Amino acid sequence: MEVKRRKAFVVDEQVWKVLVNSTQPVGAYQIANMLPKVSATQVYRVLERLVSSGKARRIAAGNAFVVASSKTDAIVICRKCGEFELLECPEAIEGLERHCDGRSFQAKQIFLEMIGTCRDCRG
Ligand SMILES: [Zn+2]
Repeated sequence: MEVKRRKAFVVDEQVWKVLVNSTQPVGAYQIANMLPKVSATQVYRVLERLVSSGKARRIAAGNAFVVASSKTDAIVICRKCGEFELLECPEAIEGLERHCDGRSFQAKQIFLEMIGTCRDCRG
């Protein structure tokens, strides 16, 4: 039992390291490919835990994951180089919440994802 638990912890750590060091969103299979002894299913389980604890986000574009925090409101992703940046933009979120209130829609979570071209790629 103890050994099993430690193994799970090691996998968690490995997946987390990949995510933290990645400048681009990464998919579960990509992560599994980087970790020789870890299966994609294991990676998925870890990612699900990270997402539910707010430490990572699943992005809609490309079914990939990025590291995040509770302060992360938005992510911008460059469609040319694939690099991403996490943004805090509470005023935008507040605006959307007001919009939802106006329609009597109770938003549980708002997360913005923007696809575009970064400064480097725009040249
Ligand atoms: Zn770029």
